[in-house]
Amino acid sequence: MFETLNISRRGLILGIDRDKFVPHILENLDKSFYMTVLDALNDGVYFVNRKRRVLYWNKGAERLSGFTAEDVLGKSCADHTLNHVDDEGNCLCLQGCPLAACMRDGQSREVDVYMHHKAGHRIPVSIRSFPIRNEVGKITGSVEVFKDNSQHLTMVSEFESLQQEVVTDPLTGVGNRRFADISLDRLQVMQSREYKPYGVIVADIDNFKSINDTWGHGVGDRVIVAIAKTMAAILRPSDIVCRLGGDEFLILLPNASPRGLEIVGNRLDLLIKESWMDLEGEMLSFSVSIGAALSDMGKSAEAVVEQADKQLYLSKAEGRGCFHLDGKKLNASR
Ligand code: GH3
Ligand code: MG
Repeated sequence: MFETLNISRRGLILGIDRDKFVPHILENLDKSFYMTVLDALNDGVYFVNRKRRVLYWNKGAERLSGFTAEDVLGKSCADHTLNHVDDEGNCLCLQGCPLAACMRDGQSREVDVYMHHKAGHRIPVSIRSFPIRNEVGKITGSVEVFKDNSQHLTMVSEFESLQQEVVTDPLTGVGNRRFADISLDRLQVMQSREYKPYGVIVADIDNFKSINDTWGHGVGDRVIVAIAKTMAAILRPSDIVCRLGGDEFLILLPNASPRGLEIVGNRLDLLIKESWMDLEGEMLSFSVSIGAALSDMGKSAEAVVEQADKQLYLSKAEGRGCFHLDGKKLNASR
């Protein structure tokens, strides 16, 4: 569960209540994110409305067909521009358009065709078309994904891996800062709709510079990974672990209570302190300083994180390797 931050058609991810959480996360990704991902694909992707007017044309479509967005946007896909012809010479744009067909019956289609290239030649492409539905399920258009037949990568797997990269910390496989921001926004919305408070825990590795200086950057990286893995392993599946950068982590606990935060903070503190790394016979142990805060209806997400940060500074100031909540040191006795 921890090893990969894997967005799939069914759901995600790393420590998250997949089916419930993921669609919301995806909703919260902004338009520019989707545009970036779509433009990074090798596949051509375009959308048409019910009148088959082209509303979106990605960079992959430009590369494969030679037509720029300017050439096709606003035009009907039935006109002579793209001109899909099948093996038997039938012009699908006039009869048998897969985009029109999937808008009629809501079924996706896959077909191999020869598309007209702007330079005048034909290019063999596999196309897939899907209906686009609005929030109430009404079909408002359709999307076509087309790829050069010689390519084997599917649009979906490429799309998934790009999505994955955008929200994953490459060193540890937990969420990155962007994922933390998206998740925090989502929890804030859930709180205002459903009055469910969430918890924020921030943790920073103690004296990490000296670990790097003594053992080298490679060992430092291994410590970061070990701590991220421990965090992910000891939390509930619905909790979210992110690395904000350097040696800083942020953990989000949906549906939290003060008692729950206390238990989790203590568990993190103790289990990380009791971990070690065997470096060819020499034992390297490490600790984190932890601060936690519970959200509140009247507070912004930034204010909750700021409050948790203040608690973290208290833990640093009181000698490190400890945990603060509401100004109190709450380490479990051992
Ligand atoms: P403190 O207990 O006050 O947190 O002391 P510290 O030494 O941990 O200080 P600080 O948190 O400021 O140090 C973070 C260090 O993390 C500084 C930087 O060199 C190192 N660092 C940042 N990113 C990476 C990384 O990806 N890998 C490794 N190995 N080191 C990193
Ligand atoms: Mg540190």
